[in-house]
Amino acid sequence: MNNTKYVFVTGGVTSSLGKGIVAASLAKLLQERGYSVTIQKLDPYINIDPGTLNPYEHGECYVTDDGAETDLDLGHYERFLNIPTSQANNVTTGRIYQSVINKERKGEFLGKTVQVIPHITDEIKHRIQILGNTGEFDIVITEIGGTVGDIESLPYVEAVRQLQWELGEENAIIIHLTLVPYLAAAGELKTKPTQHSVKMLMQSGVDPDVLVCRTEHELSDDIKRKLALFCNVKKENVIQSLDAETIYDVPNLMFKEGLDRVVLEKLQLSTEKQPALIEWNDFVQKHKNPKNEIEIGLIGKYVELHDSYKSITEAFIHAGSSNETKVNVRWIHSEELTPENIIEKLEGVNGVLVAPGFGDRGIEGKISAVQYARENNIPFFGICLGMQMAVIEFSRNVLGLEKANSTEMNRKTPHPVINLMEEQKEVTEKGGTMRLGAWDCELTENSKVYEAYKTTKISERHRHRYEFNNDYKEQIENAGMKATGINPDTGLVEIIELPSHPWFVGVQYHPEYKSTVLNPHPLFVSFIKAALQQSKK
Ligand code: GLN
Repeated sequence: MNNTKYVFVTGGVTSSLGKGIVAASLAKLLQERGYSVTIQKLDPYINIDPGTLNPYEHGECYVTDDGAETDLDLGHYERFLNIPTSQANNVTTGRIYQSVINKERKGEFLGKTVQVIPHITDEIKHRIQILGNTGEFDIVITEIGGTVGDIESLPYVEAVRQLQWELGEENAIIIHLTLVPYLAAAGELKTKPTQHSVKMLMQSGVDPDVLVCRTEHELSDDIKRKLALFCNVKKENVIQSLDAETIYDVPNLMFKEGLDRVVLEKLQLSTEKQPALIEWNDFVQKHKNPKNEIEIGLIGKYVELHDSYKSITEAFIHAGSSNETKVNVRWIHSEELTPENIIEKLEGVNGVLVAPGFGDRGIEGKISAVQYARENNIPFFGICLGMQMAVIEFSRNVLGLEKANSTEMNRKTPHPVINLMEEQKEVTEKGGTMRLGAWDCELTENSKVYEAYKTTKISERHRHRYEFNNDYKEQIENAGMKATGINPDTGLVEIIELPSHPWFVGVQYHPEYKSTVLNPHPLFVSFIKAALQQSKK
């Protein structure tokens, strides 16, 4: 038995209130107070993981070191806490049911009827406690996706009720995040939606310990008193969460409101050590007071939903702050780019980032963007599919292999410069079968990437099926595009560069997943620096 304490974060009234940011901000404050903390997300959907979801559904699919395809909130957790997450940090209903059904087939419940209570709820409780049972964490914060009252959330709320009962109220507490809307016509903040949502929670046997209220206006003492009375919480446990200028302000705002203090008091933990947030605030300071401003063209096919590229835009913010530069993003839909309009669409950008993606929609637009950046000496950063497009563009327009392509886009291309990986050829199932997670890479010393990383050995996260075709390596290198990062075990080309260009780097992996507030990713820092130099020309 260890002493890990649990904090559950539920949501009410509506989705998109920012549970992930509140959870991450609380975790940050607790971490700064000297506690070891991790955050977990429970997702009520039936997919095993978001790897098979279109980004339009829930935004980007985030990948951990251990190769889990997870919810984008895990990205916030890592960016705030600066510690890696893993598969155990993201649990879905699909995964819960899959393991219960597998156990049933093995005969583990022999003789019994398998039911939501206790079998599904037991599995949920087990998944919640996996992180606590490692003994590594003083506090585990578990965010429950969805909104209280959703049919899908019921087993999770029930599992939380049981866990609190089993562990004791001083070891497991519930934070309920709600919305207190402002009715302009009445000129008033309204508490009723919160009352209803708390009532719904209580009907499931769960009493919130703390209310975090999203609001556009200050909550008056009266409103707080009313919320406390009707929702059965102490008045000081009603925390207002005003709209913030940036998500990176939220830890400070929550500290001002006392969220971390009331949580620690409820958990009967010491509040003596105060959170300092020194490096954090240094970052926020620089982020909010930039000395320069640049614009990056982000070329992707999911640009209508900015969350599809969450880790990339956050990495821009980290790298921007360290360069004291505001990074504006020009969102460019790859399907709308043609060789004819490319100048008009990209004119004035100081850097071009071609985003990851799957399938052939919009890829000719991506190739045009690469060509524009290459020919006009605009800093270029290609990530995963973006790197593959850079290889194709170079093969077509410099080597003269007019029909060069990836076999993902054209299986019969005469010049498959990007090819399906050998180990992928037998794969038929879609879920969790890509080359995923952290792999080593060795850098060439005389290169842009070495200059950025300042080491020859790196490890980065991956999510792909196709790779640089080594049959074309010599030809491509002879023409001036260099492979400057190689997987030491397999020879797979992880990085390509153009030494003759001010900054032209394509990476097969996803550097954006590893950028955090305290450790801005070196490639993003270097790319933004190059774009800044470009802007001064
Ligand atoms: N579709 C490409 C592949 O599978 C690139 C994947 C990506 O951009 N994440 O290799």
